[in-house]
Amino acid sequence: MNQPERRIHTGMGGFRLGSIFGFDVRIDLSWFVIFFLVFWSLTRGVFPGDYPDLSPSAHVVMGLSGTLLFFASLLVHELSHALMSRRKGIVVEGITLFVFGGIAHAQREPESPRDEMLIAGIGPVTSLALAILFRLCGSLAAQTGMGDAIVGVASYLAFINLALAVFNVMPGFPLDGGRVFRAVVWSVTGDRAKATRLATTSGRTFGLILIVLGAMQVLGGAAVSGLWLVFIGWFLRTLAGASLRQELLQGMLAGYVARDLMSPDPEVVSAGLTVDALVHDHFMRLRFGSYPVVGPTGVVGLVTLDDVKRIPRDVWRVSTAADAMTPLADCVVVSPSTSVADVMDAMSRNGPRRRALVMEGVRLAGVLSATDVARWIERVRGVEDLMQERR
Ligand SMILES: [Zn+2]
Repeated sequence: MNQPERRIHTGMGGFRLGSIFGFDVRIDLSWFVIFFLVFWSLTRGVFPGDYPDLSPSAHVVMGLSGTLLFFASLLVHELSHALMSRRKGIVVEGITLFVFGGIAHAQREPESPRDEMLIAGIGPVTSLALAILFRLCGSLAAQTGMGDAIVGVASYLAFINLALAVFNVMPGFPLDGGRVFRAVVWSVTGDRAKATRLATTSGRTFGLILIVLGAMQVLGGAAVSGLWLVFIGWFLRTLAGASLRQELLQGMLAGYVARDLMSPDPEVVSAGLTVDALVHDHFMRLRFGSYPVVGPTGVVGLVTLDDVKRIPRDVWRVSTAADAMTPLADCVVVSPSTSVADVMDAMSRNGPRRRALVMEGVRLAGVLSATDVARWIERVRGVEDLMQERR
């Protein structure tokens, strides 16, 4: 699979495994569940069924090596995306493996359809190459009499990599095939947003087809494989919807910087102001939800209504804005030329205090809140609707 999330949410979660070719490799916690399920189904189902003469402990060893090499195959698939991105000049921070594959965390989108085609297309090609490689290993092992255990693991890996290649080549965004499909539409129409919408619709349709096929299998008696199909179909539909929202948002925000959206020259309060005066003269009288706090040397922090709520009411007259505020070191501080996407990224990592101080050196240029961004998006959407009605 390819990058269902890119530039805006580059924050990487999960458990860090190490680093390869300079990419940070992490595994999402959900992966442990899948690891166990794959190991279990190989050890208790697949291998005992195909090789009943081998001992149960041989099945365990086969299951473990099959699962680990399956994991390695997924990693190689994602590495192919990451390396191709790097070749195309896109910084990839790392790779996270999760339920059905992985994500290569790229810092930005490819700039041309051709780059997108190469970055997405290399994935299924890599999985296909792995399938062929494991198939060859299997036949070699069989010919040289190296034993059923090795043949069994190799043929399972050939099968699973082929399945990965086929699954990823489906033309539904954000699968690799969907990205290639989008790149083709993008290069023909020259309109990336339109191409994204089309590829996403295709992804949702494909997901629906899988759900219907799965339901038919369940009705036909193949409950387990049917439920898997339903689950994957549902997952694809969810992913397609989330990617579309993300893409449209990124498209709208592209090219805008903090200066464009911030509230300039915001009203400030002095560090020595009592909390009592802060509440009565500022929060209750003016419309702002937060105030930068200034001391003799400049801005020292940001105070919000939530900060004030933490101060007990009976000490409001003796506590100051400086006591209540979030100190500058814990605030999101950006420069006027920081891209809005990066500001949002920083704010989302900052948790509930979704406001950024826009600083030009030591001078406060403005404040940018998540609400400012949301209002701006609403306005742009309104204008776009208006333009469409006029057409
Ligand atoms: Zn992929």
